[in-house]
Amino acid sequence: MKIIDGRKAAEFFSNQLASESVLFESKTGYRPHLAAILVGNSGPSETYVAAKMEACKKIGFQSSIFRFHESISEDQLVSEIYTLNKETSIHGFIVQLPLPKHISVDRIIEAIDPGKDVDGFHPINLGKMAKGQKAFASATPYGIIKLLKYYDIETEGKHVVILGRSQIVGLPMSLLLSRNANPGNATVTICHSKTDNLKQYTLQADIIIAALGIAEFLKGDMVKEGVVVIDVGISRLPDETKKSGYKLVGDVDFESVKSRCSAISPVPGGVGPMTIIALLENTLQAANNQFEKITSK
Ligand code: NAP
Repeated sequence: MKIIDGRKAAEFFSNQLASESVLFESKTGYRPHLAAILVGNSGPSETYVAAKMEACKKIGFQSSIFRFHESISEDQLVSEIYTLNKETSIHGFIVQLPLPKHISVDRIIEAIDPGKDVDGFHPINLGKMAKGQKAFASATPYGIIKLLKYYDIETEGKHVVILGRSQIVGLPMSLLLSRNANPGNATVTICHSKTDNLKQYTLQADIIIAALGIAEFLKGDMVKEGVVVIDVGISRLPDETKKSGYKLVGDVDFESVKSRCSAISPVPGGVGPMTIIALLENTLQAANNQFEKITSK
């Protein structure tokens, strides 16, 4: 059984991006710039944004955080997004999810300029991706694609079962894996909360991508021998032995599943670091696109 080490892969891609960042700066005179909008002060969101900003620093990108109180109105947040859309020194930005309940995520995502939507959540990017056109691919699925490639995991002709159909993970993952590409060319089954007898599908899977948000959902008796398991989930479980009082677990019951796998990604240290790499790659692409647009005028 091989551990799919997302930190090791991320280190490799991070070094590549650092070199590309230097090239970009020597060509344009400025550094790629990623910004994050953070609403409220939820612990996990703070941690995720801090990790993204730290990754920017490491590879020589500029980064900024725009913080807003959780009581910010939807209209006000939309207007802040319009400001960032126009800000030429910022090449890409994300709105860290989840947002407070009074704010429509769809409206917020749709307010982002698709050319700066480096998380790849905007319907234009999702639609273009579905059509196989150039687009910012959704960061987590794109990070998983890069991880599969890095570990030479064959997807062509394989049966991939995706647990979860969210617009930011499950759905775009299914698009990327079923397209005519490498990695891709898989036969994809999507399971969700209304799937009957989900185990009959997971037992057939050559590759399982678990993205439901239910701690340790996938058990050893639900997978076949030799399966590849990619665990996207992140949940906090109480753990008195930890200083923080909690431990991070995925959607996979790692202990019971690992002995049946040919390869498995752990939580933490699997998909998470690769989501950040995909975000940074999209930011560099956005910066290049914007530079080309200015110079071609
Ligand atoms: P989400 O929007 O809550 O979607 C969860 C999906 O799982 C839904 O499609 C839901 O089905 C399905 N589901 C729920 N219960 C199920 C069940 N019992 N059986 C089968 N399917 C079930 O979650 P998400 O945003 O995709 O995130 C999923 C997990 O990944 C979370 O733990 C999140 O924290 C994590 N995540 C990690 C990263 C990373 O970088 N590592 C990035 C993004 C998300 P319905 O559609 O029928 O409701």
